Amino acid sequence: MSEAASAGPSGAPDAPTIDPYRPQEIEPHWQAYWRERGTYEVDNDDPRPRSYVLCMYPYPSGAAHMGHVRNYTFGDLLTRYRTMQGEAVLSPMGFDSFGLPAENAAINTGVHPRTFTDERIEMLRSSITRIGGVYDWRREVRSHSPEYIHWSQWIFLKLFEAGLAYRKAAPVNWCPGCQTVLANEQVVDGRCERSGDAVERRDLEQHLAAAGAATAGPSWCCPPPTRCSSAVTTSAWRGAARR
Ligand SMILES: [Zn+2]
Repeated sequence: MSEAASAGPSGAPDAPTIDPYRPQEIEPHWQAYWRERGTYEVDNDDPRPRSYVLCMYPYPSGAAHMGHVRNYTFGDLLTRYRTMQGEAVLSPMGFDSFGLPAENAAINTGVHPRTFTDERIEMLRSSITRIGGVYDWRREVRSHSPEYIHWSQWIFLKLFEAGLAYRKAAPVNWCPGCQTVLANEQVVDGRCERSGDAVERRDLEQHLAAAGAATAGPSWCCPPPTRCSSAVTTSAWRGAARR
């Protein structure tokens, strides 16, 4: 309320006026406040009760779309609510950035996939920051970075040494146009959703993780250091197993 209600010319009290919500002023102000104070940064030795909120790490396809807004709003609400309850909420963010779209863009435009990917990460980071999402950005991971792939390969070797990763020919969806393997979700009516080429079934040599390992941790679709050497999620693994 900007002013106290007063009597108008008719003698009746005026309706109280309320300052309008001005997102261009109010939101950057508070976002800067949280950032400068590290409100949502959590150190490993934080004495508060511990809490962990992890949203899916997005594939960086560009600026956020409404699916991102919906997804990350839920996680943001949980992070803020638990923080206000006095917990140390670790809410990291990262990017599932090692993938087919960057390869296709590189083929089509001649732009290096790292350049293409890093630019789209900045677009997505800017969007989810502007909607007010709070994360401990000090803990960001990018699955296309050598530092990340180093640990993917280390975990793979541990699985391999334990006899939980093995090599075998297995059928995949192959797009002759993109020259890549496709997930089932990328095949629409027998055609590649990107290039429209008819998808072939091919047997490819690949590394597979034993079923016990798939439910306990990450699994791999191809051996490092080839293109698919990053870990896939358990749900993606189950999708692959249904092929
Ligand atoms: Zn294709």
